[in-house]
Amino acid sequence: MKFRGVPASAGVGVGPVVRLEHEELLVRDAAVPGAQAAAEMERFQQACVAARADLLTIRDKIARELSPNEAAIYDAHLMILDDPELLGAVERDVRERHRNAAAAYRDAMSGYAARLGSVQVEHLRERHADILDVERRVLRHLLGVQPGHTLAPGVPCVLIAHDLAPSEVALLDRELVRGFVTEVGSRSSHGAIVARGRGIPAVVGCRGILQHVREGTQAAVDGFVGTVELDPDEDTRTFFAARRVRIEEESRELLTIQSEPAVTKDGRRVDLGANIELPGEVERALSVGADGVGLFRTEFFYLDRHQLPSEEEQTEAYRRVLEQMQGKPVIFRTMDLGGDKVASYLQLTHETNPFLGHRGIRFALAHPEIFRAQLRAIYRASAHGRARIMFPMVSSQAELRRANALCEQVRDELARARVPHDPEVEIGMMIETPSAVWMADVLARETKFFSIGTNDLTQYTLAMDRDNERLAHLYEPLDPAILRSIRHTVTVGHDGGIWVGVCGEMAGDPRTAVLLLGMGVDELSVACFDLPRVKAAIRNVRCADARRAASEALDQSSADDVKAVLAERIEPMLPKYLLTQGEKP
Ligand code: PEP
Ligand code: MG
Repeated sequence: MKFRGVPASAGVGVGPVVRLEHEELLVRDAAVPGAQAAAEMERFQQACVAARADLLTIRDKIARELSPNEAAIYDAHLMILDDPELLGAVERDVRERHRNAAAAYRDAMSGYAARLGSVQVEHLRERHADILDVERRVLRHLLGVQPGHTLAPGVPCVLIAHDLAPSEVALLDRELVRGFVTEVGSRSSHGAIVARGRGIPAVVGCRGILQHVREGTQAAVDGFVGTVELDPDEDTRTFFAARRVRIEEESRELLTIQSEPAVTKDGRRVDLGANIELPGEVERALSVGADGVGLFRTEFFYLDRHQLPSEEEQTEAYRRVLEQMQGKPVIFRTMDLGGDKVASYLQLTHETNPFLGHRGIRFALAHPEIFRAQLRAIYRASAHGRARIMFPMVSSQAELRRANALCEQVRDELARARVPHDPEVEIGMMIETPSAVWMADVLARETKFFSIGTNDLTQYTLAMDRDNERLAHLYEPLDPAILRSIRHTVTVGHDGGIWVGVCGEMAGDPRTAVLLLGMGVDELSVACFDLPRVKAAIRNVRCADARRAASEALDQSSADDVKAVLAERIEPMLPKYLLTQGEKP
């Protein structure tokens, strides 16, 4: 039986299933006589102290492995743990109503969680999961219950859960956990981000899978395409196991070209950047041999926290990134908030179509004080390296002009105050909307570069939600409509004298990377995992051949026909090992 979900973290893994079900924490109501209230409160406080110690340990581990910013998720948990209202409610219940602390705490937390759980807004539902996580942690200590799912030591497994809290993902042993699968979640849920950072293959949003899976059943997880196969036959199992070993070997081997440029056999150089979500991923970008950071999704800096990051905090983080990159360029994509990336403190109003709503540059321009603080931080950090700025989701000249004007104001302010910054920071924009494609000639006059965001461009051009698993088979970046949009953007960008890159997922597949190269794209920015493969692909082809293949692909009238061109013209140019990582051959 095969399930399709959302590919959340690249890699493959096979192993016996461990169902992660949260332990039953049986909380009984019991009367606590007044004379014992102090002792009961003492027990409760000790449980909170122990829960706090757990959280601090996890937070430090994540800060070491990923980044302090990522670890901030646990600051949110600590704040829930320390919430004076909740603690006061427990104390009143114990001392005045003579209830036991566990029941009082459970009620206080479930009242809080229920208020959030019923809302239709994703970020509040995520907070709901955080509350449950804290509640379970405290109750476990109070009731003396061990965490329910202890994995057998030394035995590899595939974890399947309804949901996994980021704190749980953070604690997974990455050698033993060959993959994890959840029924809910999206690529941008906390758990998925932590999984990617830790290199654990993951598929999320696999609806209903728990109904069909028993403990111990073998499962094959493909985090590239987002599939989970239960009870795979012997051949598939062997294939997956071999594939995992091969991917690891190849990743090691590919690192031998780490310091080589992404240049074709006939001498065409492509800038190959890394996409990162968190400042802590910079080291990985360097270690896989990136020419720079082609897309820093800075909005992750705004998520998983209770208040806006200050200008100082951002300046520091951006400065560290630039210094670590040692003169290599870093494209800071300004906050792409809204859509599915929302933070509760921003108090966004409910929208029927959030992806068509107050998102990206629209959100930023509607909150100039937040946007200005980010721009100031990027400019201030620019004194320490090679920063570039890029605006997301631009759909008109007016938006680009307003964003450019804000940059100019910030530069003037900083110059007047004699704050060191680089006034020549290159400012570019993403091409993600059909209107930007068709106005690209006009926009090219007012910007220094284009980076095509094919993830959104596909969603908006085909009118196809990129996160809707029911449309996953139709959402197709190889649709000729997308190829024509890219071709048009590249042509008019070059005519206007600017460079054009691609930073959507499409650039990360060796085949489509070669296609994009043939279409004249100057820069590709891809996930760190994909970068060495894309570099190897570029180094194995001649640009002239890629151009011919691209021109043939552009003549096709359907995505299937384009794929046939890729199979006939591009695949034969590439070493076989670059073609087999994603799907079964
Ligand atoms: C894109 O849309 O292609 C892109 C790179 O941006 P994001 O995936 O962050 O929306
Ligand atoms: Mg986008």
